[in-house]
Amino acid sequence: MPPVDRRNPIRATSSESTTTVVEFWREFPDDEACLNYIWRERFSPDGEHAHCGRCETERVFKRYATADRRPAWYCATCGFRIHPLKGTIFEKSSTSLQMWFYAMYIMASTRCGVSAKQLERELGVTYKTAWRMFNLIRNKLMADDDQTPLSGEVEADETFVGGKPRESYRREVVRRGWNMQTAYWDRKAVVFGAVERHGRIRVSTIPNSRQRTLEAKVTEYVLPSSILYTDDFKAYQRIGKAKYTHRRINHSARVYVQGDTHTQTIEGFFGLFKSGVRGAYHAVSHKWLQGYLNEYAWRYNRRKMEGSMFHALLAQAVTRTV
Ligand SMILES: [Zn+2]
Repeated sequence: MPPVDRRNPIRATSSESTTTVVEFWREFPDDEACLNYIWRERFSPDGEHAHCGRCETERVFKRYATADRRPAWYCATCGFRIHPLKGTIFEKSSTSLQMWFYAMYIMASTRCGVSAKQLERELGVTYKTAWRMFNLIRNKLMADDDQTPLSGEVEADETFVGGKPRESYRREVVRRGWNMQTAYWDRKAVVFGAVERHGRIRVSTIPNSRQRTLEAKVTEYVLPSSILYTDDFKAYQRIGKAKYTHRRINHSARVYVQGDTHTQTIEGFFGLFKSGVRGAYHAVSHKWLQGYLNEYAWRYNRRKMEGSMFHALLAQAVTRTV
Protein backbone atom coordinates (compact mmCIF):
# COMPACT_ATOMS: atom_id res chain seq x y z
CA MET A 1 0.00 0.00 0.00
CA PRO A 2 1.35 3.45 -0.83
CA PRO A 3 2.01 5.69 2.15
CA VAL A 4 -0.64 8.26 2.93
CA ASP A 5 0.19 11.69 1.62
CA ARG A 6 0.17 13.71 4.79
CA ARG A 7 -0.25 16.98 2.91
CA ASN A 8 -3.43 15.68 1.38
CA PRO A 9 -5.28 13.74 4.03
CA ILE A 10 -8.04 11.52 2.82
CA ARG A 11 -11.03 10.68 4.91
CA ALA A 12 -12.07 7.22 5.89
CA THR A 13 -15.05 5.86 4.00
CA SER A 14 -16.96 5.53 7.26
CA SER A 15 -17.36 9.28 7.49
CA GLU A 16 -18.82 9.85 4.03
CA SER A 17 -21.63 12.07 5.16
CA THR A 18 -19.43 14.54 7.00
CA THR A 19 -16.84 17.11 6.12
CA THR A 20 -13.62 16.78 8.06
CA VAL A 21 -12.22 19.79 9.83
CA VAL A 22 -9.26 19.75 7.43
CA GLU A 23 -11.62 19.92 4.48
CA PHE A 24 -13.46 22.74 6.18
CA TRP A 25 -10.39 24.93 6.59
CA ARG A 26 -9.27 24.13 3.07
CA GLU A 27 -12.58 25.17 1.56
CA PHE A 28 -13.05 28.22 3.77
CA PRO A 29 -9.60 29.51 4.71
CA ASP A 30 -10.83 33.06 5.33
CA ASP A 31 -13.81 35.40 5.28
CA GLU A 32 -13.37 36.20 1.62
CA ALA A 33 -13.75 32.53 0.71
CA CYS A 34 -17.02 32.39 2.66
CA LEU A 35 -18.28 35.58 1.05
CA ASN A 36 -17.39 34.26 -2.40
CA TYR A 37 -19.26 31.06 -1.65
CA ILE A 38 -22.41 33.01 -0.77
CA TRP A 39 -22.00 35.28 -3.80
CA ARG A 40 -21.75 32.31 -6.15
CA GLU A 41 -24.51 30.29 -4.54
CA ARG A 42 -26.98 33.15 -4.41
CA PHE A 43 -26.21 35.26 -7.47
CA SER A 44 -23.33 34.20 -9.63
CA PRO A 45 -22.58 30.52 -10.31
CA ASP A 46 -19.38 31.41 -12.22
CA GLY A 47 -18.39 34.17 -9.79
CA GLU A 48 -18.29 36.79 -12.58
CA HIS A 49 -21.71 37.09 -14.12
CA ALA A 50 -25.00 37.85 -12.43
CA HIS A 51 -28.41 39.09 -13.38
CA CYS A 52 -28.48 42.87 -13.19
CA GLY A 53 -31.78 44.17 -11.87
CA ARG A 54 -31.34 47.50 -13.65
CA CYS A 55 -29.99 46.30 -17.02
CA GLU A 56 -32.47 43.43 -16.76
CA THR A 57 -29.98 41.05 -18.27
CA GLU A 58 -26.88 39.10 -17.32
CA ARG A 59 -23.83 41.31 -16.83
CA VAL A 60 -20.26 41.14 -15.62
CA PHE A 61 -20.05 42.03 -11.92
CA LYS A 62 -17.02 43.27 -9.99
CA ARG A 63 -16.25 43.22 -6.32
CA TYR A 64 -16.94 46.61 -4.82
CA ALA A 65 -13.98 47.82 -2.82
CA THR A 66 -15.17 50.37 -0.32
CA ALA A 67 -15.09 51.37 3.30
CA ASP A 68 -18.72 50.32 3.45
CA ARG A 69 -18.99 47.40 5.84
CA ARG A 70 -21.61 45.71 3.70
CA PRO A 71 -19.78 43.74 1.03
CA ALA A 72 -21.08 44.30 -2.49
CA TRP A 73 -20.54 43.50 -6.15
CA TYR A 74 -21.43 46.04 -8.85
CA CYS A 75 -22.60 45.74 -12.44
CA ALA A 76 -19.70 46.72 -14.70
CA THR A 77 -22.17 48.29 -17.16
CA CYS A 78 -24.47 50.38 -15.00
CA GLY A 79 -23.03 50.28 -11.48
CA PHE A 80 -26.03 48.48 -9.96
CA ARG A 81 -24.99 46.91 -6.66
CA ILE A 82 -25.75 43.53 -5.17
CA HIS A 83 -25.17 42.84 -1.48
CA PRO A 84 -24.83 39.07 -1.25
CA LEU A 85 -25.51 38.89 2.51
CA LYS A 86 -28.77 40.80 2.29
CA GLY A 87 -31.61 38.83 3.82
CA THR A 88 -29.40 36.08 5.25
CA ILE A 89 -28.79 35.39 8.94
CA PHE A 90 -25.32 36.93 8.47
CA GLU A 91 -26.54 40.33 7.31
CA LYS A 92 -26.86 42.12 10.61
CA SER A 93 -24.07 40.33 12.39
CA SER A 94 -20.66 41.76 13.08
CA THR A 95 -19.20 38.29 13.62
CA SER A 96 -16.93 37.12 10.83
CA LEU A 97 -18.40 34.88 8.18
CA GLN A 98 -15.78 32.26 8.77
CA MET A 99 -16.88 31.98 12.40
CA TRP A 100 -20.48 31.62 11.29
CA PHE A 101 -19.47 28.92 8.86
CA TYR A 102 -17.51 27.13 11.54
CA ALA A 103 -20.45 27.30 13.94
CA MET A 104 -22.61 25.69 11.26
CA TYR A 105 -19.90 23.16 10.59
CA ILE A 106 -19.73 21.93 14.16
CA MET A 107 -23.50 21.89 14.52
CA ALA A 108 -23.89 19.78 11.41
CA SER A 109 -21.07 17.38 12.21
CA THR A 110 -21.69 16.62 15.85
CA ARG A 111 -24.01 13.83 16.85
CA CYS A 112 -25.05 15.01 20.24
CA GLY A 113 -24.85 18.77 20.11
CA VAL A 114 -22.29 21.38 21.03
CA SER A 115 -22.73 23.97 23.73
CA ALA A 116 -22.37 27.69 23.22
CA LYS A 117 -19.67 27.46 25.88
CA GLN A 118 -17.59 25.25 23.65
CA LEU A 119 -18.11 27.53 20.66
CA GLU A 120 -17.08 30.47 22.82
CA ARG A 121 -13.82 28.69 23.64
CA GLU A 122 -13.11 27.49 20.11
CA LEU A 123 -13.82 30.79 18.36
CA GLY A 124 -12.78 33.23 21.06
CA VAL A 125 -16.09 35.08 20.81
CA THR A 126 -18.16 36.10 23.81
CA TYR A 127 -20.63 33.63 25.26
CA LYS A 128 -23.47 35.91 24.24
CA THR A 129 -22.30 35.95 20.62
CA ALA A 130 -21.81 32.18 20.52
CA TRP A 131 -25.21 31.61 22.01
CA ARG A 132 -26.88 34.02 19.59
CA MET A 133 -25.26 32.34 16.61
CA PHE A 134 -26.42 28.88 17.68
CA ASN A 135 -29.87 30.19 18.38
CA LEU A 136 -30.24 31.75 14.94
CA ILE A 137 -28.93 28.61 13.26
CA ARG A 138 -31.35 26.42 15.20
CA ASN A 139 -34.40 28.58 14.74
CA LYS A 140 -33.84 29.97 11.26
CA LEU A 141 -31.86 27.33 9.42
CA MET A 142 -32.77 24.09 11.14
CA ALA A 143 -36.50 24.65 11.60
CA ASP A 144 -38.43 21.99 9.75
CA ASP A 145 -39.78 23.41 6.49
CA ASP A 146 -41.18 20.11 5.30
CA GLN A 147 -44.85 20.16 6.22
CA THR A 148 -45.64 16.91 4.38
CA PRO A 149 -47.47 14.59 6.78
CA LEU A 150 -45.75 11.39 7.83
CA SER A 151 -47.14 8.17 6.42
CA GLY A 152 -46.73 4.40 6.42
CA GLU A 153 -45.74 2.97 9.79
CA VAL A 154 -45.60 5.89 12.21
CA GLU A 155 -44.77 5.89 15.91
CA ALA A 156 -46.05 8.73 18.07
CA ASP A 157 -45.24 9.53 21.67
CA GLU A 158 -44.89 12.39 24.10
CA THR A 159 -42.26 12.98 26.72
CA PHE A 160 -41.39 15.39 29.51
CA VAL A 161 -38.16 17.33 29.32
CA GLY A 162 -36.53 19.12 32.22
CA GLY A 163 -34.34 18.19 35.09
CA LYS A 164 -35.00 18.24 38.78
CA PRO A 165 -36.12 21.60 40.07
CA ARG A 166 -33.46 23.80 41.61
CA GLU A 167 -33.09 23.91 45.36
CA SER A 168 -34.42 27.48 45.48
CA TYR A 169 -37.56 26.37 43.67
CA ARG A 170 -38.01 23.37 45.96
CA ARG A 171 -37.81 25.65 48.96
CA GLU A 172 -40.38 27.97 47.42
CA VAL A 173 -42.74 25.03 46.83
CA VAL A 174 -42.39 23.96 50.44
CA ARG A 175 -42.85 27.51 51.72
CA ARG A 176 -46.01 28.04 49.70
CA GLY A 177 -47.36 24.64 50.64
CA TRP A 178 -47.71 23.50 47.02
CA ASN A 179 -47.88 19.87 46.10
CA MET A 180 -44.31 18.92 45.27
CA GLN A 181 -45.33 16.34 42.70
CA THR A 182 -47.57 18.72 40.75
CA ALA A 183 -45.16 21.62 41.03
CA TYR A 184 -42.36 19.41 39.77
CA TRP A 185 -44.27 18.31 36.66
CA ASP A 186 -45.45 21.81 35.92
CA ARG A 187 -41.84 22.81 35.51
CA LYS A 188 -41.27 20.21 32.84
CA ALA A 189 -41.97 20.87 29.20
CA VAL A 190 -43.98 18.47 27.09
CA VAL A 191 -42.59 17.39 23.75
CA PHE A 192 -44.52 15.52 21.12
CA GLY A 193 -42.89 13.53 18.35
CA ALA A 194 -43.91 11.29 15.48
CA VAL A 195 -41.55 9.31 13.31
CA GLU A 196 -41.85 7.13 10.24
CA ARG A 197 -40.02 3.87 10.74
CA HIS A 198 -36.88 4.21 8.58
CA GLY A 199 -37.98 7.73 7.65
CA ARG A 200 -38.62 11.26 8.78
CA ILE A 201 -39.30 12.70 12.21
CA ARG A 202 -41.34 15.72 13.31
CA VAL A 203 -41.13 17.05 16.87
CA SER A 204 -42.45 20.04 18.73
CA THR A 205 -43.15 21.36 22.17
CA ILE A 206 -46.80 21.24 23.20
CA PRO A 207 -48.58 23.08 26.02
CA ASN A 208 -49.76 19.94 27.83
CA SER A 209 -50.38 16.22 27.34
CA ARG A 210 -54.16 16.35 27.28
CA GLN A 211 -56.13 14.25 24.85
CA ARG A 212 -57.23 17.17 22.69
CA THR A 213 -53.70 18.52 22.36
CA LEU A 214 -52.23 15.15 21.44
CA GLU A 215 -55.00 14.30 18.99
CA ALA A 216 -54.55 17.61 17.20
CA LYS A 217 -50.83 17.02 16.91
CA VAL A 218 -51.20 13.46 15.61
CA THR A 219 -53.73 14.67 13.04
CA GLU A 220 -51.38 17.45 11.96
CA TYR A 221 -48.31 15.24 11.65
CA VAL A 222 -49.63 11.88 10.45
CA LEU A 223 -51.46 11.15 7.20
CA PRO A 224 -54.82 9.35 7.58
CA SER A 225 -54.72 5.62 6.78
CA SER A 226 -51.20 5.30 8.21
CA ILE A 227 -50.46 2.59 10.72
CA LEU A 228 -50.08 4.44 13.99
CA TYR A 229 -48.17 2.99 16.93
CA THR A 230 -48.55 4.53 20.38
CA ASP A 231 -48.41 3.37 23.96
CA ASP A 232 -51.55 2.78 26.00
CA PHE A 233 -51.67 6.30 27.43
CA LYS A 234 -55.38 7.08 27.60
CA ALA A 235 -55.08 10.33 25.64
CA TYR A 236 -54.43 8.23 22.53
CA GLN A 237 -57.41 5.97 23.09
CA ARG A 238 -59.82 7.49 20.59
CA ILE A 239 -57.40 8.63 17.94
CA GLY A 240 -57.20 5.46 15.92
CA LYS A 241 -60.85 4.85 15.43
CA ALA A 242 -61.54 7.32 12.67
CA LYS A 243 -58.37 7.76 10.76
CA TYR A 244 -55.66 5.28 11.50
CA THR A 245 -54.94 1.63 11.92
CA HIS A 246 -53.98 2.07 15.55
CA ARG A 247 -51.72 -0.40 17.37
CA ARG A 248 -50.99 0.20 21.01
CA ILE A 249 -48.28 -1.25 23.16
CA ASN A 250 -49.21 -1.90 26.74
CA HIS A 251 -46.49 0.06 28.54
CA SER A 252 -48.43 0.17 31.78
CA ALA A 253 -48.16 -3.64 31.92
CA ARG A 254 -44.42 -3.30 31.19
CA VAL A 255 -44.70 -4.71 27.71
CA TYR A 256 -42.45 -2.80 25.32
CA VAL A 257 -42.30 -4.83 22.14
CA GLN A 258 -44.91 -7.15 20.74
CA GLY A 259 -44.03 -8.21 17.22
CA ASP A 260 -44.17 -5.02 15.15
CA THR A 261 -45.99 -3.16 17.84
CA HIS A 262 -43.63 -0.87 19.72
CA THR A 263 -42.56 2.77 19.98
CA GLN A 264 -38.82 2.12 20.17
CA THR A 265 -37.89 4.44 17.30
CA ILE A 266 -39.44 7.58 18.79
CA GLU A 267 -38.23 6.64 22.27
CA GLY A 268 -34.73 6.19 20.87
CA PHE A 269 -34.85 9.71 19.48
CA PHE A 270 -36.11 11.14 22.78
CA GLY A 271 -33.36 9.27 24.60
CA LEU A 272 -30.66 10.67 22.32
CA PHE A 273 -32.14 14.14 22.64
CA LYS A 274 -32.31 14.06 26.42
CA SER A 275 -28.83 12.72 26.94
CA GLY A 276 -27.48 15.28 24.47
CA VAL A 277 -29.24 18.13 26.19
CA ARG A 278 -27.97 16.93 29.55
CA GLY A 279 -24.43 16.51 28.31
CA ALA A 280 -24.00 19.58 26.17
CA TYR A 281 -26.41 22.13 27.53
CA HIS A 282 -27.00 21.11 31.17
CA ALA A 283 -30.39 22.73 31.25
CA VAL A 284 -32.66 24.04 28.57
CA SER A 285 -35.36 26.53 29.36
CA HIS A 286 -38.79 25.94 27.83
CA LYS A 287 -38.38 29.01 25.71
CA TRP A 288 -35.45 27.60 23.77
CA LEU A 289 -36.49 23.97 23.72
CA GLN A 290 -38.00 24.08 20.23
CA GLY A 291 -34.66 25.27 18.85
CA TYR A 292 -32.87 22.26 20.34
CA LEU A 293 -35.58 19.98 18.98
CA ASN A 294 -35.11 21.54 15.55
CA GLU A 295 -31.40 20.82 15.74
CA TYR A 296 -31.80 17.17 16.69
CA ALA A 297 -34.62 16.54 14.21
CA TRP A 298 -32.65 18.27 11.46
CA ARG A 299 -29.72 15.91 11.90
CA TYR A 300 -31.96 12.88 12.34
CA ASN A 301 -33.75 13.63 9.08
CA ARG A 302 -30.45 13.79 7.25
CA ARG A 303 -28.78 10.80 8.87
CA LYS A 304 -28.83 8.82 5.65
CA MET A 305 -28.12 11.63 3.22
CA GLU A 306 -25.45 11.43 0.56
CA GLY A 307 -22.89 14.21 0.78
CA SER A 308 -22.09 16.42 3.71
CA MET A 309 -24.63 17.64 6.26
CA PHE A 310 -22.56 20.78 6.63
CA HIS A 311 -23.11 21.69 2.99
CA ALA A 312 -26.81 20.93 3.40
CA LEU A 313 -26.87 23.45 6.25
CA LEU A 314 -24.93 26.00 4.19
CA ALA A 315 -27.54 25.57 1.47
CA GLN A 316 -30.22 26.53 3.99
CA ALA A 317 -28.19 29.58 4.96
CA VAL A 318 -28.00 30.88 1.39
CA THR A 319 -31.55 30.03 0.34
CA ARG A 320 -33.51 30.91 3.46
CA THR A 321 -33.97 34.58 3.91
CA VAL A 322 -34.92 35.84 7.34
ZN1 LIG B 1 -26.45 46.74 -14.86
